[in-house]
Amino acid sequence: MYKVLLWDIDGTILDFQASEREGMRACFSHFSLGPLSDEMLKTYSSINHRFWQALERGEMSKQEILIGRFQAFFHLMGINEQLAEAFNREYQLRLGDTVYFLDHAYALLSQLQGKYVQCAVTNGTRLAQERKLKKSGLDHIFDHIFISEDLGFEKPNPGFFDVVFRRLPAYRKQEYLIIGDSLTSDMQGGVNAGIPCCWFNPNRLPNLQHVPIDHEIQSLDELPALLSASFPTALSPHRIL
Ligand SMILES: [Mg+2]
Repeated sequence: MYKVLLWDIDGTILDFQASEREGMRACFSHFSLGPLSDEMLKTYSSINHRFWQALERGEMSKQEILIGRFQAFFHLMGINEQLAEAFNREYQLRLGDTVYFLDHAYALLSQLQGKYVQCAVTNGTRLAQERKLKKSGLDHIFDHIFISEDLGFEKPNPGFFDVVFRRLPAYRKQEYLIIGDSLTSDMQGGVNAGIPCCWFNPNRLPNLQHVPIDHEIQSLDELPALLSASFPTALSPHRIL
């Protein structure tokens, strides 16, 4: 039986795309950069995604990706790249101020409160995540909050999970379940740490990386049934590709 739920935040509990869109629009307006079209936002979003993947692979530091993604985007858009640092600072504040829950997320987290040890496990920045958690009320729901910037490791690095295990020494690895939307950081992180994984995959994306996940759900309201079922040996028999 699972006892500790490790929750990814962005794209799993909160609608990151909505926050990103609002945060970017607010910053474009703040720095008088003109309107931000959907096409520009799409370009930024894919650059941002590439940079975060480089962070997950350990190829770049957090600071390098935070600034580098805007330098790359500004370069493409003909905007002064020197603005990247100030833009990122403002963006972190805006990101933390825009909170949209994904379907069922808040009700589910509240329903599970007290029944499971619930922890946030996130690679976001401390500034944005702390603001987000406070503004959303999630800081009162989670028993523990693990932000990579505090831990010195990013998911999927096992070092991230070692800190979690040290903080919660009473639980065995098979009693943990990590729930997240990212194959490369959440699911691979769970695999690296040796704990069961539940892939939140609302868009039914293919598992191109063939990460060996244990459970897959399209909607968060599928989780209670999964949790109440008994999985005595959660690791190997239920693994699906
Ligand atoms: Mg995520």
